[in-house]
Amino acid sequence: MTLWALIGSAVIAVVAYALLSGFLTTYRRYRGKHVITCPQNSQSASVRVDAFKAAHWAAISGDPVLRLSSCSRWPENAGCGQECLSELKESPESCAVKTIVSQWYAGKSCVYCSHEIGPIVWHERPPAVRSEEGIIREWTDIAPETLPQVFRTHEPVCFNCSLAERLLHDHPEMIVKRNYRPEHKPTLAPTHTTY
Ligand SMILES: [Zn+2]
Repeated sequence: MTLWALIGSAVIAVVAYALLSGFLTTYRRYRGKHVITCPQNSQSASVRVDAFKAAHWAAISGDPVLRLSSCSRWPENAGCGQECLSELKESPESCAVKTIVSQWYAGKSCVYCSHEIGPIVWHERPPAVRSEEGIIREWTDIAPETLPQVFRTHEPVCFNCSLAERLLHDHPEMIVKRNYRPEHKPTLAPTHTTY
């Protein structure tokens, strides 16, 4: 067997392992940040699971072995019992940050232009929130563990209005506000009569 045939066989074996064993399904389920309720203080915390290891164990034994790789309460509480993993294992999708964000914006309209926020364009056009004090922040600038609290007290802002309002706030000299004039409507119906 030539070297290339050997490499090809190895690649095929790895791809087959990933596709057939459930590796990819488990990896996708646990990758990224999740927000859980910490059993120690009943407050929200954002965590990351070692998704690669979980997927590997799921592929080998059918049971993902979950361990945290990071937590917003670390390093102060590093060494905790990681009891939050039971919540995560029970419902990883509902704990995922993207799910929490999508569900909050779903069906909501922008507080400025009243247009529906619609499907979220995650990186290029992230929507924002407005606080009671009128401060606008893109959701990506908010610490994930504070999202549940922020979503309880803030209003949704679409990407376009978020951009315009923040530009107006940061560089008011660059904005020319024109007074809005409603379209002029004739008071008399048009006629072809010659006077
Ligand atoms: Zn808007």
